[in-house]
Amino acid sequence: MKNVYDIIFIGGGLSSLMFLSQYTQKNPKEKILVLEKNKSIRDDQTFCAWAGPSIVDIAQTFNLKPKKKWHKIQLVDNTNFILKDLQPYQYVAFDGNKTLKKLLSSCKNITYKSNITVKQIQHDDVFTIKTDKEDEFYSLYLFDSRPPKDSQSYKYKESLSQAFIGSEIMLPNNSFDETTVTLMDFQKNKDEIIFTYVLPFSKKRALVETTFFTKHVDFKLINNQHKLYLKRYKNFKEVRTEKAVLPMAILNNTKSDKILRLGIGAGMMRPSTGYSMQRMANWINSLRFMKIKNSNKQNYFYRSPKILDWLDSIFLKVCYYQPQIGPLLFMSLFKKANIFSIIRFMSDVPSWFDIIRIVWALPKKIMIKGLLNRYE
Ligand SMILES: Cc1cc2nc3c(=O)[nH]c(=O)nc-3n(C[C@H](O)[C@H](O)[C@H](O)COP(=O)(O)OP(=O)(O)OC[C@H]3O[C@@H](n4cnc5c(N)ncnc54)[C@H](O)[C@@H]3O)c2cc1C
Repeated sequence: MKNVYDIIFIGGGLSSLMFLSQYTQKNPKEKILVLEKNKSIRDDQTFCAWAGPSIVDIAQTFNLKPKKKWHKIQLVDNTNFILKDLQPYQYVAFDGNKTLKKLLSSCKNITYKSNITVKQIQHDDVFTIKTDKEDEFYSLYLFDSRPPKDSQSYKYKESLSQAFIGSEIMLPNNSFDETTVTLMDFQKNKDEIIFTYVLPFSKKRALVETTFFTKHVDFKLINNQHKLYLKRYKNFKEVRTEKAVLPMAILNNTKSDKILRLGIGAGMMRPSTGYSMQRMANWINSLRFMKIKNSNKQNYFYRSPKILDWLDSIFLKVCYYQPQIGPLLFMSLFKKANIFSIIRFMSDVPSWFDIIRIVWALPKKIMIKGLLNRYE
């Protein structure tokens, strides 16, 4: 029947395509529709993640080709400089556009409709999806990958936004150290945590991204800060830009919902970092991909690890009430904790020993105040 599907996905971004690239391999006969509001696949994202022992290998699992891998990272603030050798781990970058296109091409027998915005969902025995076009669509199951609508879906008021502007730039001379990622180069500030992130793809080409962890997003301010940082590169040419606002928040549990959620709106973004690709990969890798039925639907609800949510909530509380000490938190963590423990922690696969090492490395008084709600 026309417009009737087994499953409909709202949004054809990273989480839907990562999921479908695996689900459709096991269930190629299901009738699946993806509704995506953008006209074409985005060209303004770079996805980075860690790779190495005990971390789900994103490149291998999803058959993706990394744009670049690094074995070294550095963190910088006004007075300190930390350089870390990651081996046997790596920091890996994936080109956003190529990744999404490759994932889409790995999905078997799906209908992908772009330039169509979902406006309304009704549910009786089946889902009825109304869009900005004339067509209505019907399905038994519905996955929704739209981001959280507003702060109503945040569990705690101590939530921040990660807002950034990035420029991929080309220099006339060999000026970048292409072996080392600058994970955070902090700028002193009392109201927000501000840092720049530099991904050197070659000696001449890098993505330079100015990031704010903030309560109030002001892109004019971010742009000024970004321009200021870029001044250190003489005669650069900007070849591509990235700009985003990502929620840094623990989300309310959506488990009882009839709709299955995916991606950022399902809590698949790590609240303390804004990274989500690894969380999505870990979850997808844990699924057995039985054909979705009412009897196994529960298996497709994402639950974020409680211990990590709890630690992230303390971290967010500290950053919310005392943003000026944000750089100290990160610098202390990377200086004192074992780098492999940090990588596994950031990749959602820490052992208890890793967690103890992380907690031990953080400034105790500050974190205990956060834990005891002494900032409010
Ligand atoms: C510039 C940028 C850089 C990032 N870098 C990293 C990184 O390095 N590492 C990392 O782990 N994460 C990174 N992230 C965060 C995260 O991994 C991405 O945002 C990722 O795309 C989230 O996947 P998603 O499926 O939840 O959302 P999306 O990929 O945004 O997919 C949701 C889709 O839903 C569509 N949509 C929304 N509303 C409707 C509607 N009403 N009807 C139809 N379609 C709709 C949107 O157009 C979108 O395509 C980055 C994010 C951005 C924006």
